[in-house]
Amino acid sequence: MFIDSHCHINFPELAGRVGEVMAKMHDNQVSHALCVAVNFREFPQVRALAEQYSNIYASVGVHPDYEQEGEVEVEELLARANHPKVIAIGETGLDYYRLKGELEWQKQRFRNHIRAAKQAGKPLIIHMREAANDTLQIMQEEGAGEIGGVMHCFTGSWETAQAAMAMGFYISFSGIVTFKNAAKVREVAEKVPLERMLIETDSPYLAPVPFRGKTNEPAFVRHVAEEIARLRHLSVDEVGAATTKNFFQLFRLH
Ligand SMILES: [Zn+2]
Ligand SMILES: [Zn+2]
Repeated sequence: MFIDSHCHINFPELAGRVGEVMAKMHDNQVSHALCVAVNFREFPQVRALAEQYSNIYASVGVHPDYEQEGEVEVEELLARANHPKVIAIGETGLDYYRLKGELEWQKQRFRNHIRAAKQAGKPLIIHMREAANDTLQIMQEEGAGEIGGVMHCFTGSWETAQAAMAMGFYISFSGIVTFKNAAKVREVAEKVPLERMLIETDSPYLAPVPFRGKTNEPAFVRHVAEEIARLRHLSVDEVGAATTKNFFQLFRLH
C-alpha cells in the first residue's frame, strides 16, 4: 500500500476527473491521499473532496507564492482547521525561487502558520525552495519542532534534511527523485532514515518517470516508491509499508 502525502486534485488539470483519479489510485494500491490547500479561496473545494471521499484528507494554508492573498491571520487558519478531515496546516514556507526581493510578508505568513499549527495541534506541511537557511531559522525561532510536520517535495541538502529531522520533521520525496538529473535529491533519498520518510506526487505537477511531462496524479506515487526502493536496495513493499506507517503516525490517524 502507498499513500500520496501531497497532491492538488482540486486543481483544474484533475478536478474534472476525480472519479477516475480515485479508481486509478485503487488499481495501484494507493490507499489515501492528502489534498493540500494553497489559498483560502480554493480551500472549500479541498474540504469538499475530503468530505466526499473517506480516503482523502485535507489541509489548510496559503502557499508562499500567492503574494496577492495578503496577510494570513492565525485565527483565519484556526477557524478552517477546526474540521475532522483537516489534518495539517499548509502548505506554507518560503520560496525564493519564484519570488525575489523584499519578502518580509512571506516570512510573517510562515510564522503565522507555525503559530496556528501549534495552537490547532496539527502538523505543518512546509514548502521550501532556495530558502533553506531562513526556513530553518524561522522554524527554530517559532518552535516548529513542538508540533512537527513534513518538508514536502524536498530538494535541499543532506545537512538541511538533518536539521529538519532534528526538529522532528519528516522528509517527503516527489517524482523529482526519478529524474536522472536530480543527483542531489537522489543522494538525500538514499540517506534519510526510512522511519523519517514520506512520499508524494505534488500532482498535477512533477510527474515521475515514465510519465515525465504529463499530468501527474496520486496513482503515480507508486513510481516514487519504486525508485526509492531501487536506490536503497529494498523491496517496493518495504518502502510502501514504512511511508504509510509514517503518514499515519505524523498526522495522528489510527
Ligand atoms: Zn510546494
Ligand atoms: Zn504542493
